[in-house]
Amino acid sequence: MSDFGGAIKKSDVFDLAILGVPFDEKSCFLRGAASGPQAIRQASTGKALNPFTELGIDLETEVTIVDLGDVDTSGDVDKTFARLEEAVIKILEKKAVPIILGGDHSITFPILKAFARFFSKLDLLHFDAHPDLYPELYGDRFSHACPFARILEAGLVDRLVQIGIRAATPEQRQIASKFGVTMMEMKDLKNLPSLEFTNPLYISFDLDSLDPAFAPGVAHHEPGGLTTRQVIDLIHELKAQIVGLDVVELNPTRDPSGITAAAAVKIIKEVIGQIVLTKKSG
Ligand code: MN
Ligand code: MN
Repeated sequence: MSDFGGAIKKSDVFDLAILGVPFDEKSCFLRGAASGPQAIRQASTGKALNPFTELGIDLETEVTIVDLGDVDTSGDVDKTFARLEEAVIKILEKKAVPIILGGDHSITFPILKAFARFFSKLDLLHFDAHPDLYPELYGDRFSHACPFARILEAGLVDRLVQIGIRAATPEQRQIASKFGVTMMEMKDLKNLPSLEFTNPLYISFDLDSLDPAFAPGVAHHEPGGLTTRQVIDLIHELKAQIVGLDVVELNPTRDPSGITAAAAVKIIKEVIGQIVLTKKSG
């Protein structure tokens, strides 16, 4: 079940496509994020919520959203990443917006490889407690702690803005400054910035950007994070043409009340609402 308040339809023609990636083999600490897509879908059933966004967009009638199911994650990691990249390419070929449910954060690198084929200019807004800019972690260059280093090295985006950061290491700060990354750390975030992007924008949302008080269902608890309210306000204030979103790192084994899955659903709804609003205003 994945209906985001009744919004999901069966159609060959669509504006947005949900895609699950039940994958957590690149998690350096706890496994469990592979069950994330299922938990997000469960939290989005029609009886739990209505299809309206806070700003009044009716996701059931104003936009066509489909659920393409999960990427096959059997076999080795290279095969999974190749299938994921292919699945994203298929969505982008239809000029639709992929909404990807993780899975651990390593999936963002193959996703953006697909995007780079379609977007010669692309900006990236990354919500996270961690910069995920390690050259490698425990000998693994494709760990969930490394995707943004790979994305920058490969030149897949023009601009990277990170927000919610509160676990940067000196090494990661150095890499950020080398690539001209805008790293908005929680310690400096006294007021919410209003974010504007000139190129098409991809949003990568690690649920641990939220404070663990609001989103305990993640592997790495890093107190001192964003409130769910702050994130929704940031989304509403965002001036950008959003062309893709991933919501990653939901670990249902640490989310007994389901509040983190509910936050994921809420964020997805409001981002979709923002996409519709931007289209409407031309
Ligand atoms: Mn993180
Ligand atoms: Mn991350």
